[in-house]
Formats: sequence, C-alpha cells, structure tokens
Amino acid sequence: MPINKTIRLETKDYIPTETKKDLIILHHTVGGTALSTINYWKTDPNRIATAYVVERDGVVYEVFDPKYWAFHLGLKGSGGAVDKRSIGIEIASEGGLTYRDGKLYCFDVISDRTLFNQEHYDHGMPWRGYRFFDAYSDVQISAVAELITQLCDQFNIPTQTPANHFDADDAYRQFAGILGHHHLRPDKSDVHPGFEWQRVIDECKLAVV
Ligand SMILES: [Zn+2]
Repeated sequence: MPINKTIRLETKDYIPTETKKDLIILHHTVGGTALSTINYWKTDPNRIATAYVVERDGVVYEVFDPKYWAFHLGLKGSGGAVDKRSIGIEIASEGGLTYRDGKLYCFDVISDRTLFNQEHYDHGMPWRGYRFFDAYSDVQISAVAELITQLCDQFNIPTQTPANHFDADDAYRQFAGILGHHHLRPDKSDVHPGFEWQRVIDECKLAVV
C-alpha cells in the first residue's frame, strides 16, 4: 500500500524515543480533512498526534515514524504508558452528528456553517451521546485494514481484537492487539459503531477474543 510521507511533523510535535509496540488504536479526527488535523497538531504544544491519518479518499499519511510515539489517548494517571506502546491511526471524519428539524450538524453546533451534507451512519439508538455519525468511507476502511496488517507484521503486534466493540473497560489498558479509543474511554465516541469491524477482522485475519 502506498503511504504518503510528504507531510511530516517536527520532532517537537511527538516524542522521538523508540518504544516497543503491541497495540494499535483507531480514532477519528472530528474534523474536515486529514490535513486540517495535521495542521492543528503542528500548532499544539502538547505533543498530541498519531503516526497515521487516513484521508476520506483513502490516502494514508504517515506524519512520523511509528517506532516513536505521541500522546493520543488522554488516560488520566497513566503517565502515557499506553500511548508509548501503541500506534495510533486517525480516520478523517466529523464523528458524532446532531439532529435538528430533519437536518444533521457537526461539532455539536446548529448553524449554516456546521450543516452536514455527506453520507451518514444511523445507529438507530444513542451511543455515547450520538445516534448519527459521519460515515467512514469504503476506501478508508480498506486503507485501515491494509495498514493494520502491515503494522502487525512490522512490529509483531498480536492480530486480535475484542468481541465487544461497544463498551469501555479499564482492563483494555492491558490488551495487546487492535482497539478503538472508545474501548479505553467511556467519554469517547471514536471509532463509532458504523466502523466495519467484521470486515477488518476478515481482511486482517484477526482473532476475536
Ligand atoms: Zn480518539
């Protein structure tokens, strides 16, 4: 899979210390494009980032070498322990959408500027405060699956994921394999239930544990 490495963070924006990896964490950006998120990280002094961002058209940006690390989980009291041993993948997406009078809006704001007109996923019931979400694109899921396979191979990360993709549990802080940010934090809605876990399980040949 071609990976775009033309846009890189400076070393001040991540921690250029090599750490052993046994975990991949999937996120979504809550933003317009991959580039808008990368540009935001460049202005943020807290070294928050992920090594990969998957654009809506399926292009994968690697913004720093995944053997290094950055803060991407926000787990209180952990000292960055899980951030250090995990590789983060951000999927460009507006995330949770707000419904009002037959229309959907981004960023929890009802305005002309935040009106959402792209394809959405309807969970049919609220999950983590939202029923509707910006749908991940087919090419994004394909790119994520290819990237997972590549990284598991490269870093010898266990090819496994939990059967439960809806609930958070502190026990997942010890998990090795593939997780969503939502597994680790009950206040996070990335990745949302429209993520095609079964397809990724099949394409990456993941064990469900
Ligand atoms: Zn996240």
